[in-house]
Amino acid sequence: MVPLLTQLLGLPGVDVESYEESGDELILSVERHAESAHCPRCHQLSTHLHQNHSSRVRDLPISHYRKTWLRVNRRQFKCFGCGKPFSEPLEFMGVRRKYTDRYADAVVQQVMHSSTKNVSWNQGLSEDLVWSMVEYASKKNALSS
Ligand SMILES: [Zn+2]
Repeated sequence: MVPLLTQLLGLPGVDVESYEESGDELILSVERHAESAHCPRCHQLSTHLHQNHSSRVRDLPISHYRKTWLRVNRRQFKCFGCGKPFSEPLEFMGVRRKYTDRYADAVVQQVMHSSTKNVSWNQGLSEDLVWSMVEYASKKNALSS
């Protein structure tokens, strides 16, 4: 792992394993360091790895890079309690999302002070994606307050 980048990234539960640069983009490969996960259905602890799923997730920009991406290796475990496979939970992002919670929050803040069109242009996102972040963040924040 890369300790300095792990510290800079500051996301709970994951380590930066490696990184690469591509033009004005930074790509960090991250992995959760726990060797087990709790099944979301029956809450039994599983250590039985089923398969790996890698996905690219947008995060807040680091340093001078215009875009920062996480290549998240989200492992699937097999639960012996209910017999079903499940993806390990990541506390900094929602299931099947292509962005971290804190990035969605930052985009929403920008939308409130600007417009969807401006934000989508500045961030290099489609307007649909910006809207999906606004919806996602407002639901999530409604649940946690
Ligand atoms: Zn289970």
